[in-house]
Amino acid sequence: MKKYNYIIVGSGIFGAIFAYEANKIGKKCLVIDKRSHIGGNIYCEDIEGINVHKYGAHIFHTSNKKVWDYINSFAEFNRYTNSPIAIYKDELYNMPFNMNTFNRLWGVRTPSEAKAKIAEQILESNIMKPQNLEEQAIKLVGKDIYEKLIKGYTEKQWGTKATELPAFIIKRLPVRFTYDNNYFNDKYQGIPIGGYTKIIEKMLKGIEVRLNTDFFKSRKEFENLTEKIVFTGMIDEFYNYKFGTLEYRSLRFENEILNQENYQGNAVINYTEYEVPYTRIIEHKHFEYGTQPKTVITKEYPARWNKGDEPYYPINNERNNIIYSKYKNLSNKETDVIFGGRLAEYKYYDMHNVIEQALKCTEKELQK
Ligand code: FAD
Ligand code: UDP
Repeated sequence: MKKYNYIIVGSGIFGAIFAYEANKIGKKCLVIDKRSHIGGNIYCEDIEGINVHKYGAHIFHTSNKKVWDYINSFAEFNRYTNSPIAIYKDELYNMPFNMNTFNRLWGVRTPSEAKAKIAEQILESNIMKPQNLEEQAIKLVGKDIYEKLIKGYTEKQWGTKATELPAFIIKRLPVRFTYDNNYFNDKYQGIPIGGYTKIIEKMLKGIEVRLNTDFFKSRKEFENLTEKIVFTGMIDEFYNYKFGTLEYRSLRFENEILNQENYQGNAVINYTEYEVPYTRIIEHKHFEYGTQPKTVITKEYPARWNKGDEPYYPINNERNNIIYSKYKNLSNKETDVIFGGRLAEYKYYDMHNVIEQALKCTEKELQK
């Protein structure tokens, strides 16, 4: 008889949901995390009474009612709608690409004028079937928007030429022929009142958690203590990089507390020219309509990833996807290890994707 039914490696949203559901039906769980706090990348910290998103801005959005109802059972959400501004040199545009953007750029007022302008630029570029991010972007919004709002941002974000990046990345953003600045098309959107960490705290209530604990430092010991492992860390590290190292893009966050009430008038402002070294400035209080006397801003600098750095974005190019599929094949053969989440599945998942996967996984595993 082992001490635990499950040891869950990682206290992010995937690990926390698994632990919560397993604990609910009486399974004995231990959650470990190598960081000094729970929550993984959705962790928020109270600074000056403001919930600061310590690992980048997190806006919850989904069209999946099951996921929305599930997360709402742990927190109430406010009505925040993400509508970033993009600054290119001294020009300011609304995001995502919509009639406000097209009007500011070309002076067009109607959807048909905007469509005609884009069609003209697509025709000039001669792209039939887009093969990479650059071609996909031009095919969606034309050359002007690509040059001003996409190329510089994308190349500094990923540290790679846009011609060498997969097309799907740019398809995350809506293109709309209405005057609607909502960054997402999803049915439900908002920020949890009180921040994300509270959600994870609720999920992990009554469950043993060990922080500052790296699975790989005591792997054998953990394996002996448990019937099964739920692993939400990097899948290549789990297999000791035997098929090669999966690549990531990292970030560096620079936080500042400012002695003023309102710094930039919006939660998210993107800086789209290559020469500005950060991609965006986040002003956290605006996610929750804060009225505190001070404000906290974060500049987000893209960074090269080396082993040991925080792996923020998987780079899902052909090389990495081939390597990942080898690890995936191995993982399919495991009977006592379950892999889940953004790192273990090596996918550019948003929170709602991770919740959906976690719910599927718990249903399959725990209803046996
Ligand atoms: P994580 O949150 O990464 O949790 C994994 C945990 O495992 C971490 O706490 C880590 O410390 C721990 N761990 C790893 N290895 C080990 C080990 N060896 N031993 C012990 N512990 C270990 N999603 C949205 O829906 N909306 C957004 O606006 C949004 N913005 C984002 C902005 C940025 C900059 C980033 C990077 C992501 C964003 N996301 C957003 C995605 C979101 O963060 C993820 O989908 C989600 O947090 C992933 O949850 P997870 O549990 O899979 O992984
Ligand atoms: N992007 C861009 N200009 C912007 C914002 C985004 O070109 O002003 C591109 C860029 O390639 C980025 C991708 O769109 O990597 C996806 O953006 P998103 O905001 O979804 O990225 P995330 O929030 O995950 O960093």
